Amino acid sequence: MRGRLVAGNWKSNGNLAANEKLLGYVRANVAGLQGVMCAVCVPYPYLDQTRQALAGSAAVWGGQDVSQFGAGAYTGAVTGGMLREFGCRYVIVGHSERRSIFGESNAVVAAKFAVALQEGLTPIVCVGETLQERETGAMEQVVGAQVDAVLAAAGVAALGSAGVAYEPVWAIGTGKTATPDEAQAAHAFIRARIAARDAAIAAKLVMLYGGSVKAANAGQLFSMPDIDGGLIGGAALVAEEFMAICRAAERR
Ligand code: PEP
Repeated sequence: MRGRLVAGNWKSNGNLAANEKLLGYVRANVAGLQGVMCAVCVPYPYLDQTRQALAGSAAVWGGQDVSQFGAGAYTGAVTGGMLREFGCRYVIVGHSERRSIFGESNAVVAAKFAVALQEGLTPIVCVGETLQERETGAMEQVVGAQVDAVLAAAGVAALGSAGVAYEPVWAIGTGKTATPDEAQAAHAFIRARIAARDAAIAAKLVMLYGGSVKAANAGQLFSMPDIDGGLIGGAALVAEEFMAICRAAERR
């Protein structure tokens, strides 16, 4: 049986006082979760605060991006080794905001994925189509190319130590959620694409849905056969809501 994971993506949000409350709530409630890994992916400056708040609890943490280069003359870039020093287990790569706002191509995202693994992190690679791509019937072509770039850069075996988040761009931060059937269809497509290379790796790959997940819709989404949890943006900033989403990922 595949593991379950709910990861919060704080994006460029937070401050020391608000984080303390949020992390304190996560710490106080995570022990009660059955069979669900709970992670928070925080802005870099808050990694030390996060480590101090969550160390010794069942919750884990990570970064939201990583350099595709190692140490060296890359001003502003943060390496996987640095994230490891602050206790990160996970790192998100290829979030649609990195792709669209910061211009990251499929090749750059795939390079980040490969480097994150080499540096001892578990990458969660985000894939997903825009509304226009969905409406023109290009979802499979777009998402397939995003997945193929990772397979080409890192090899299919790498997906045995990683996660994939399907995040339709039109559902991120918009309040529009893919229906459970739409999300399931995309997850099944991605899993099948990976299974064509290695069925065993595909069967155990943890796949998250992301896009306006709330406590009210999480249960239905997480009950779909190929959805193993969620990548949560806005709702991850609301302590009770985030932990309710984590509980919705428990198997019943
Ligand atoms: C995200 O940014 O990864 C995300 C899914 O955001 P939201 O939950 O706010 O749609």
